Amino acid sequence: MWHNWTGDQTCTPAHRAEPASVDEVAAVVKAAAAREQVVRVVGAGHAFGDNVLTDGTLLSLDRLSGLRDVDTASGLVRVAAGTRLYAVNELLDAHGLALANLGDINVQSAAGAISTATHGTGAAFGNLATFVESLELVTAAGAVVEMSGDDLRAARVSVGALGVVTAYTLRMVRAFRLRERRDRMPLATVLRDFDALADGSDHFEFFAFPYADRAITKQLERTQDPAEPGSERRAWFEEVVLENKVLDLICRTGRRFPSQIPRLNRLITSVASPSEKVNVGHKVFSSPREVRFTESEWAFPREVLPEVLPRILRVAEEHRVNFPIEVRVVAADTASMLSPSYGRATAYVAVHAYRGMPWQEYFADVQAIGAEYAARPHWGKRHALSAAELGERYPEWEAFQEVRRRLDPDGLFANAHVRRIFG
Ligand SMILES: Cc1cc2nc3c(=O)[nH]c(=O)nc-3n(C[C@H](O)[C@H](O)[C@H](O)COP(=O)(O)OP(=O)(O)OC[C@H]3O[C@@H](n4cnc5c(N)ncnc54)[C@H](O)[C@@H]3O)c2cc1C
Repeated sequence: MWHNWTGDQTCTPAHRAEPASVDEVAAVVKAAAAREQVVRVVGAGHAFGDNVLTDGTLLSLDRLSGLRDVDTASGLVRVAAGTRLYAVNELLDAHGLALANLGDINVQSAAGAISTATHGTGAAFGNLATFVESLELVTAAGAVVEMSGDDLRAARVSVGALGVVTAYTLRMVRAFRLRERRDRMPLATVLRDFDALADGSDHFEFFAFPYADRAITKQLERTQDPAEPGSERRAWFEEVVLENKVLDLICRTGRRFPSQIPRLNRLITSVASPSEKVNVGHKVFSSPREVRFTESEWAFPREVLPEVLPRILRVAEEHRVNFPIEVRVVAADTASMLSPSYGRATAYVAVHAYRGMPWQEYFADVQAIGAEYAARPHWGKRHALSAAELGERYPEWEAFQEVRRRLDPDGLFANAHVRRIFG
């Protein structure tokens, strides 16, 4: 039986395949089509939704991994689609290149992360799909196509619904170091100064806690300064001890004694003390995640964040939530027809539920608030929107559907998830 990272999405596929070449991928797709079996591709299984579930063929690209080509002068690199992001980082270190931005983990596959518009934070930075210059796709007919023009704009963020992505050409930047500053701030100040904070550093984010009036902020700046000795030890303490062991203990205690949740949430904001470190960019962006949870995340027009967040915090308090809410900013783009930050500067609001805690009503209430602002869901996280509802939030929805009808006319890649979100 296959299960996702959280452990709450499971399926038993009739066939599993791990092709090691593009020709093998095409052969697997053709064989599944002959058996009239749905094909889903799995990366690292870190999507929180039912994205990859199938009783047909489950295809993993773990053996299609690694750098195919590197051009240090232009910064363009060819990457096999199954390559994990941490491997992309490590392989590129040797060439003095790096991904311009990353989310808070690095274990996803390149294709899994890009296909759902995975993002980090930074007012001037688009999601990971904006780094894609071109991609290679195996279609339902088993054809191998290098995508360009509007087909590429459809395929960058396609949630596995157009075919199997087998390789990307990605635009990299010169490798860089980051100075990270963590701080505690009154939530009211963060909301009042949100624009100045978001624009005031390369990568700004904050965590708000139900019942607590202080937020934890994180500001990252590119720097020429050398990596500081002690940064790795500090990262271990903050990211492994505080963000995992202590958070897990506090969440477990809250699950057992819900009446203590307000006090526990305030406790977290008081143990987090201000700190600073400098290290290689990708080591600062990502950290290990041992605490298991499920998540829903919404892309709001950035300007509404100060008004929306207090409403979401109130909902979290009504549901006695013992997990921080994460706020990040992403630049507008039109590189992907289905980019959640399509055409507008975006503030992402992520809500979580510790494993074993109820999430259904909490997430539904947040989704209802999102509807008032035409918020768009993260494609790899939980939401319950239908194709009709999503269509109203994406200006190029019909153009995407046209590409889908052409590339996958019989719905070979359409499991229940894809039918719900795309029809
Ligand atoms: C602990 C944790 C932290 C996270 N942090 C962030 C974050 O900071 N920012 C953020 O934006 N998201 C974050 N996510 C969400 C995560 O980045 C996405 O869910 C991403 O899709 C997971 O990548 P994956 O390789 O595990 O893909 P999977 O979950 O395996 O697949 C995701 C989707 O991609 C499709 N897919 C995978 N490979 C291919 C392929 N080769 N061709 C076509 N389609 C394909 C799948 O069919 C599926 O629909 C986080 C998730 C977890 C569990």
